[in-house]
Amino acid sequence: MVVDIDKCTGCQACVVACQSENNVPINEEAHFNQRRAIEWIRVERYWEGEFPDVKARFIPLFCQQCGDAPCEPVCPVYATYHNSEGLNVQVYNRCIGTRFCANNCPYQVRFFNFWEPAWPETLKNQLNPDVTVRSRGIMEKCTFCVQRIRRSSREADKEGEELQDGDRALNPACVNACPTEALMFGNLNNPESKVAKKAEKELRGTTPARKGGRGYHLLDEFGTHPKVVYLKKYDKDAEEAHG
Ligand code: SF4
Repeated sequence: MVVDIDKCTGCQACVVACQSENNVPINEEAHFNQRRAIEWIRVERYWEGEFPDVKARFIPLFCQQCGDAPCEPVCPVYATYHNSEGLNVQVYNRCIGTRFCANNCPYQVRFFNFWEPAWPETLKNQLNPDVTVRSRGIMEKCTFCVQRIRRSSREADKEGEELQDGDRALNPACVNACPTEALMFGNLNNPESKVAKKAEKELRGTTPARKGGRGYHLLDEFGTHPKVVYLKKYDKDAEEAHG
């Protein structure tokens, strides 16, 4: 995944899409007050500068699918592990709820079901049948909508075709919902994919129009080797100040 911070307006359409696609329970005020609200993707907002010259910045944050994920070795029952496609997956019916993984995640993107999720009667039919409704005591998190990846690869197999990079059916719900196309999804293992080329170009700093690329990994110094590449915001003022 590549996330272009320059395009993110903080609209939170990705958050709502994720909630709807993945049967994420409805958070109520009481849950927020207890700091037990669940969202698999959150948009962090922070301010830069001093009033009145202040700018709002947004960073969409979700599981970074780390290559060396700190959550994996601490799980006593292997409920979280790395699959062959490079995804950090979560086996719900193996999880015994110790929460060691959440404590070890520097991005704080794992969520624990402290309560039995319930939906109003009118919303029950909107639950996604492809995704398990998790019960109390289960750790959960973003898997880049693995159910969509599985469905698309099954359908591609049936048709005898290759999975198409950038196919809407393959994209996670957040990517399809983003109105500014701030999120780009694809197969980083395929060097010819659009997302792999973009990540490579921005991380190596070979963007022709600029001296350096905009790519970086969040909390790179922890050595987690995340699979998500963020592209920093263009800041005209800072660029002019530095020549
Ligand atoms: S939908 Fe796109 S623009 Fe809106 S908050 Fe999410 S990433 Fe940012």
